Amino acid sequence: MTAIPPRWCCAATSADARMQKRYDPLTAREGQIRNGMKGARKLYVKSFGCQMNVYDSQRMADTLAPEGYVETATAEEADLIVLNTCHIREKAAEKVYSELGRLRRLKQAAAADGRSLLIAVAGCVAQAEGDEIIRRAPTVDLVVGSQNYHRLPDLVARAARGRRVVDTDFPLDDKFDHLAAPSRTATRARGVTAFVTVQEGCDKFCAFCVVPYTRGAESSRAAEKIVTEVERLADAGVREVTLIGQNVNAYHGTGADDRPWTLARLLERLAGVPGIARLRYTTSHPLDMDEDLIAAHHALPALMPQLHLPVQSGSDRILTAMNRRHSRSDYLDVVARLREARPDLALTSDFIVGFPGETEDDFAATLTLVEEVGYAGAFSFKYSPRPGTPGADMSHQLDEAEKSDRLQRLQRTIDRGQAKFNRACIGRTLSVLFERPGRHRGQIVGRSPYLQPVQIDAPPSLIGEIADVTITEVASNSLFGALASPFPSPRNGEVREGSEPGGSLTTPRTAVGGSTLPFPEREKIAGAGA
Ligand code: SAM
Ligand code: SF4
Repeated sequence: MTAIPPRWCCAATSADARMQKRYDPLTAREGQIRNGMKGARKLYVKSFGCQMNVYDSQRMADTLAPEGYVETATAEEADLIVLNTCHIREKAAEKVYSELGRLRRLKQAAAADGRSLLIAVAGCVAQAEGDEIIRRAPTVDLVVGSQNYHRLPDLVARAARGRRVVDTDFPLDDKFDHLAAPSRTATRARGVTAFVTVQEGCDKFCAFCVVPYTRGAESSRAAEKIVTEVERLADAGVREVTLIGQNVNAYHGTGADDRPWTLARLLERLAGVPGIARLRYTTSHPLDMDEDLIAAHHALPALMPQLHLPVQSGSDRILTAMNRRHSRSDYLDVVARLREARPDLALTSDFIVGFPGETEDDFAATLTLVEEVGYAGAFSFKYSPRPGTPGADMSHQLDEAEKSDRLQRLQRTIDRGQAKFNRACIGRTLSVLFERPGRHRGQIVGRSPYLQPVQIDAPPSLIGEIADVTITEVASNSLFGALASPFPSPRNGEVREGSEPGGSLTTPRTAVGGSTLPFPEREKIAGAGA
């Protein structure tokens, strides 16, 4: 069992502090001073879509901090609003335009107050639609594609001078080399878990998906840069890191030895970063689930027993039409090997219903796959034809009513699996990393190794700690319980040999009810799902 320096272990020496000072980018305050500004300018960033956008939004805020921008949670008081958009389904893109309608009124109100408000659209809608956004929504000052965030300070300055700016090139330079790292204060404010993008783009070209067009070709960040980023996060108190990428398990970044590292090798390296107790990764493609990565689920205690492995459909005919390049049995084979490596692995997935040509028999095959795998949860979507993708031009498009009916039936099956998994947790003791205060007074919320939200009554001083919790009750998305034993109050410098990494010592490493776990904030799709 690896000893994990606990969060309260104040082991940083003054030399460490000096290093930290040197590494830290300019904070917003320092940025204001450098810019000779009297008051801070306020930045409001709204993220749509996946975790990659959440990560990008944080990095945009970090990059604008030296320009004097301080984040606000209130759009009404912002001087700059950035919508970080998602283009994956039509509904997701349309949400952006309806949000821009609201922002137009906000901009008018700011002007009436004698303030100027800049509005920027970033992310995949920006990348896909470019100038068209300004044509449809003239309130927008700046459109910036997903590869160009490092240029934001310059682009914002140009927009502030009254120019309409559109920057959606795919530059050759790596944006990660130019994006500012978060300050220690910003990291602390974001909590004890963090996302780190390790891979971007996709070369798989599934017939329904815009990602290869909006995010470009697959590329991986150099391993040592990721290690440095994770060390900085750990130093600021982060205990759990989720490596993210559109196709994260295709990771092949250059390692310290100048050779391409696999995701398994990277995870092994990160498991050795002091302070990091838990690792996860998402989202994976079944084809890229190599033997090393499967073995890592057995070998690395810090790698949590939970995996999001999208399959999209249970029908071979539809998988072929989707250009998924794997069959139902290939997928089941990967699942079997994963469960052999880690019997209690909680699996979740993505499904699309109503892909062109999907028959009732094809759909029935999806339902049987859900039952056979025993998912702990899943996202499910109605197929949304995306302009420019092969699926959009296919014949035999299904009507909305048919798609809605199938979506509801699929979601009922998924819900039953999730409820079964959650019920099987009653009476078990799970290790929980506490992340934040709960909704009710005296309550704190954390995550189980399987990513289930777990709520207990306990003091907020436990936030950032990992403790064993005995589960007493379950609701549709959360577990409730109590500390399995009183949590010893920490002493400075103390190193606790604990229940992490690798899940609770008391967590049996056996499959739970043939199924597995939890879904974070489950996307409930009434309608098209975005
Ligand atoms: N890379 C992941 C994979 O290979 O499965 C998926 C990434 S994609 C950003 C997230 C999910 O959105 C997909 O798994 C798919 O279920 C869904 N999705 C993508 N395009 C879609 C479309 N045109 N209509 C409906 N759902 C879609
Ligand atoms: Fe989209 Fe994932 Fe397919 Fe790539 S592998 S095209 S990101 S669904």
